Amino acid sequence: MKANVIRKKSTNDETNKAVKVAVAKGDGIGPEIMDATLRILEAAGANIEPEYIEVGEQVYLSGNSAGITQDTWEIINRNKIILKAPITTPQGKGYKSLNVTMRKSLGLFANVRPVSALHPYVETNFPNMDVVVIRENEEDLYAGIEHQQTQDVVQCLKLITRPGCEKIVRYAFEYAKVYGRKKVTCMVKDNIMKLTDGLFHQVFKEIALEYPDIQNETQIIDIGAARLAANPQNYDVVVTSNLYGDIISDIVAEIAGSVGMAGSANIGTNVAMFEAIHGSAPDIAGENMANPSGLINAAVSMLAHVGQSLTADTIKNAWLATIEEGYHTADIYKEGVSKRKVSTSEFAEQVISRL
Ligand code: NAD
Repeated sequence: MKANVIRKKSTNDETNKAVKVAVAKGDGIGPEIMDATLRILEAAGANIEPEYIEVGEQVYLSGNSAGITQDTWEIINRNKIILKAPITTPQGKGYKSLNVTMRKSLGLFANVRPVSALHPYVETNFPNMDVVVIRENEEDLYAGIEHQQTQDVVQCLKLITRPGCEKIVRYAFEYAKVYGRKKVTCMVKDNIMKLTDGLFHQVFKEIALEYPDIQNETQIIDIGAARLAANPQNYDVVVTSNLYGDIISDIVAEIAGSVGMAGSANIGTNVAMFEAIHGSAPDIAGENMANPSGLINAAVSMLAHVGQSLTADTIKNAWLATIEEGYHTADIYKEGVSKRKVSTSEFAEQVISRL
């Protein structure tokens, strides 16, 4: 069976020089899904040279409170491309999120999270959904300004800047233009946060005027999120601030089939980092049952980003054919729809056999 979704027409822009990629295997299911992904990249002939870095839990446990060493920063800054598996961050206490630190320190301002239904191969109530969430990635409540004011009062500051809004909103419209998308929806809560979300909305209105061929609309995030969950097929590109984007992209991925399916690109001016949208899934770590698709899709975006579009297309089509032919990991396995429940490593083998 032929895969039914082909990416934009490729330019044969492969060069002979291998692209150096800093590769982090991460925590929890990270090493399992990264091994699966790297095997596929190698089998497809991706012209990359991985340089392995260690970030996250093991680095913290060795006594480094940042979760990343100076040597690793140097490798990242030299390579400029990162393929990263999820890492574990403790809830409510303990060390600061290294994900947030990396996105901010590396200037990765846009977090691009495309999700589309693979109906009828993956069960979903929304066969026609095809949404790209573009999440601001450096500011908002994730800017990391939190204070203990008194024993019983804590404060977290929401930081929104005009340059930050301009960069992300313009990115969303440019993305829509390049990929032929029709509409950009802005989600804010400026009825309550009149200054911060008000600024985001104001910038959206200004920049939308520069793109008369692309429809624009703004929704208050609470009803917007509800409508997105109820009728995702009505949305195209959604641009929003950091926290809202984090939440709605998980919702969108889950209702399309599984949070395990979606990949993301963290785009900056000089550096780009590619990862699955989900976390380290400690509940299934070490079981060889995680869906590696999110990281595979992230790796496909990475190859397109570094100019290896033909290899990206080859992997994407083999991945789609695997899903279409019913080889499904447990998260998307459905009696009567799926053909066989496969492990993480078997899924990779099925993809490789279709390259
Ligand atoms: P999670 O995304 O790890 O897991 C949520 C649920 O989805 C779990 O039931 C899990 O088993 C399932 N799931 C996730 N990925 C899957 C996959 N590929 N295949 C099958 N099932 C999958 O979210 P969580 O449990 O809230 O977070 C766990 C840890 O991950 C936390 O420490 C969190 O901070 C971290 N996290 C890291 C990143 C990142 O590194 N980018 C992102 C989100 C969360």
